[in-house]
Amino acid sequence: MRKSGAGMRKNMNLKITCIPGDGIGPEIIAEAKKVLVKAGEKFGFVPDFTDILMGGASIDVHGIPLTDEAIDTAKSADAVLMGSIGGNTSTSPWYKLPPEKRPEAGLLKIRKALNLFANLRPALLYKELASACPLKEEISAAGFDIMIMRELTGGLYFGERKTVEENGVRKAIDTLTYDENEIRRIAIKGFDIAMKRKKKVTSVDKANVLDSSRLWRAVVEEVAKDYPEVTLEHMLVDNCAMQLVKDPSQFDVILTENMFGDILSDEASMVTGSIGMLASASLNDTRFGLYEPSHGSAPDIAGMDVANPIATILSAAMMLRYSFDLDAAADAVEEAVKKVLADGFRTGDIMSEGLKQVGCSEMGSLIAERI
Ligand code: NAD
Repeated sequence: MRKSGAGMRKNMNLKITCIPGDGIGPEIIAEAKKVLVKAGEKFGFVPDFTDILMGGASIDVHGIPLTDEAIDTAKSADAVLMGSIGGNTSTSPWYKLPPEKRPEAGLLKIRKALNLFANLRPALLYKELASACPLKEEISAAGFDIMIMRELTGGLYFGERKTVEENGVRKAIDTLTYDENEIRRIAIKGFDIAMKRKKKVTSVDKANVLDSSRLWRAVVEEVAKDYPEVTLEHMLVDNCAMQLVKDPSQFDVILTENMFGDILSDEASMVTGSIGMLASASLNDTRFGLYEPSHGSAPDIAGMDVANPIATILSAAMMLRYSFDLDAAADAVEEAVKKVLADGFRTGDIMSEGLKQVGCSEMGSLIAERI
């Protein structure tokens, strides 16, 4: 692991490709840029943004959701910051196109082109938003800050599949395969991330039943030997699903395979109660990553200056931390978000009585001011 060096990129240009995308995408990306520029002034770096088109915005101009030129631009950057893509799936003409030409195909294409195999989804409960948490108060009172590290390009979703008919009975087969290299590279990412956090990894599997899980567990244990400071525990996936609602504060990094991660990361994000607050990242085996909010393009509120830009701003903070090793700047952005919430400012989606409602642009400015 490269040592964390907040000074390492001082006064350097950070080459960032931005994908504003569709719906609220351009509005929330504008606020993340505002915050990054302010963080740069404070911490001595200069974000160098280049925008590319993806999703519906690219279909409208180029007829396809992502061009090869746009991919080349993304590849030439140090990191990609994305808003969101897609439109109203019932009414938008983009959804009359064949599936491979629809907005979402651009996302699959860029993930593949950039070899993004590790998906990171934090689930963090802010004490100011604790009332949005659907868990009992005695559980939410402890707060939680979980990072789910999900393998993104292997397992059941990418294995061979077929449906056959045997003696008049239809039968479907999906194959769950992992090789040790696929497991090792995601485990290394998980332990690297734990070193930047509370140094605990919970590896989640179904090793009492599945061979792929038994190999997963063995390889994770091998990797753990290189990280003596990190505490490793193993947990069966069914127990993990239960523990997430029973005692989420016990977790730091949850490391798991593709399908388990798909389900657990949605469960973890739901227990925070606020979709406009949840960041995410997809990483490859270099420092490169694609950072984006967990929510979609919210076409119902696009162009109204009411979207919550915090998930995108927190995604930008993840970018500073994981692609640029600028931990102090990332901390400052996250702290600024907490301060704005503590000062009582809210966008409409997280509004409660007696607090001050602001729009997307004002929320971005308030956060930037507090860095
Ligand atoms: P969505 O997340 O866009 O919206 C769900 C609800 O949450 C809506 O009421 C919306 O107004 C609200 N919401 C979402 N983000 C918000 C924010 N930042 N601030 C305030 N409110 C917010 O999900 P959806 O409606 O199912 O999907 C809309 C489009 O987004 C679809 O085309 C879908 O395919 C696409 N999508 C894209 C991504 C991505 O780009 N990675 C992810 C999910 C969905």
